[in-house]
Amino acid sequence: MGSLLQSCDCVEVRAMKWMVGGLFLVTVGSLLAEQALDPAAQRVVDLTHPFNAKTVYWPTAPSRFVLEQLAHGPTPEGYFYSAYSLSTPEHGGTHLDAPVHFAADGRTADEIPLQQLMGPAVVIDVSARAGADRDYRLSREDVIAFESRHGRIAPRTLVLLRTGWSRHWPDVKAYLGDDTPGDASKLSFPSYGEDAAKLLVEERDVSVLGVDTASIDYGRSTDFRVHRVAAARNVPGLENLTNLDQLPARGATVIALPMKIEGGSGGPLRAVALVPR
Ligand SMILES: [Zn+2]
Repeated sequence: MGSLLQSCDCVEVRAMKWMVGGLFLVTVGSLLAEQALDPAAQRVVDLTHPFNAKTVYWPTAPSRFVLEQLAHGPTPEGYFYSAYSLSTPEHGGTHLDAPVHFAADGRTADEIPLQQLMGPAVVIDVSARAGADRDYRLSREDVIAFESRHGRIAPRTLVLLRTGWSRHWPDVKAYLGDDTPGDASKLSFPSYGEDAAKLLVEERDVSVLGVDTASIDYGRSTDFRVHRVAAARNVPGLENLTNLDQLPARGATVIALPMKIEGGSGGPLRAVALVPR
């Protein structure tokens, strides 16, 4: 009798475990399915230029991207091994500008909330105007015109400005407008204008200003007004982005994660966009 009850218990317990386990698996499975990247529903666009010897840096940067080989080849133990050491100024290639770059009490690279670096994106396309005028600055009127076509830009949107400039990458003279080493006084490329930046940062409360040129201020700027407007509100910049032509005006989700440099004023950035098919 005892052994019968025992075996009965055992079967019931097993059945219950199976049911609970099954329920758990089904729940996790459906959650994963909802969260998974579905290649049929979304394509992934890489917004980052590769880091290499040709990576474009600000003319006054004291060094460039350096990848030093530490090991590459077969070991005495018979397995393959490869490793490198890297060094780079923070502000070169596709990178983040942390607010502290232009505001003494602004957030450092590691302090920016991750939620601020991922979310819905809009792409404002001024490539035709920038193509006709390489010193073009996005105006307040351009933003209003964008909104009348695509709807008001919601708070916490990542704003990306498409000038078409990444077609010049990595030709420094074409990209920056001048390739004199150590001299940043003759640069020429398009970007945000101050009034557009104020509208986006102060009135629309956007989370990020990104651009496919070397700076969120245009090349001729000497006072970096846009950087200061953004930094004052703890809005980071994303610079030297690419592939913005592959994104819709709205509908993409952008994830822009920089290297987590403690106390850093910026740093190398891997940014991607998820675009509904
Ligand atoms: Zn920068």
